[in-house]
Amino acid sequence: MLGGTFDPVHLGHLRSAVELREVLNLDRVHMVLAKVPPLRGKPQVSARDRLALLRLGVGDTPGLLADPRELEREGPSYSADTLASLRQEYGPEACLVMVLGHDAFLRLSDWRSPKRLFELAHLVVIDRPDFDAPLSQPLRELIAGREVDSGEMLMQRPAGGLLRLALPTRLAISATEVRRRLAEGSSVRYLLPEAVEARLLTDSLYRHS
Ligand code: ATP
Repeated sequence: MLGGTFDPVHLGHLRSAVELREVLNLDRVHMVLAKVPPLRGKPQVSARDRLALLRLGVGDTPGLLADPRELEREGPSYSADTLASLRQEYGPEACLVMVLGHDAFLRLSDWRSPKRLFELAHLVVIDRPDFDAPLSQPLRELIAGREVDSGEMLMQRPAGGLLRLALPTRLAISATEVRRRLAEGSSVRYLLPEAVEARLLTDSLYRHS
């Protein structure tokens, strides 16, 4: 599972999902759209529009899924609930992995039921350019004894481990910068898939921030 606000989806998300699938030999990467992200401000466009963009971005990429399950639940989108639903779908023996960029990982101890996340899945943290602040004390306590050195070690159990990964391609693209550029009318070419860019421009999304 690679969860996100995807406000909007960009090539940093999509290229990371493709490389994760290759590096960890995953069957599928569920890109799960957060309807109401608990720890940040209201997204600029509706969940429906963000999902439409995510679907366009994923297109027919093998192994990637635009997953709308959090849109079907009321209230804030807690990852523990999403992982529980994936666990139910794939069964107790399957290896489940929750993927986070380093910036999101730094805030993990503020999430709802962070310990439960490790009961349901492994955590994989991917390097992200410009984000390398040190870990807080609560975060270090949360991950103590969980870290492993390789994907093979991680995949020996269904859940509970932590792996930090530097993927082959690190893209310094953020949705914040994409929104800023769209609001001022600058080009976003090659920061997003062309189909996503075309829809954004046709529907005038993110034009007034
Ligand atoms: P914003 O700038 O609005 O905070 P974002 O670009 O960080 O958005 P999110 O939807 O918040 O996008 O990110 C979803 C997940 O993808 C997070 O775990 C985040 O760390 C990760 N991620 C986002 N951009 C990248 C990138 N360029 N490379 C690697 N991981 C990324």
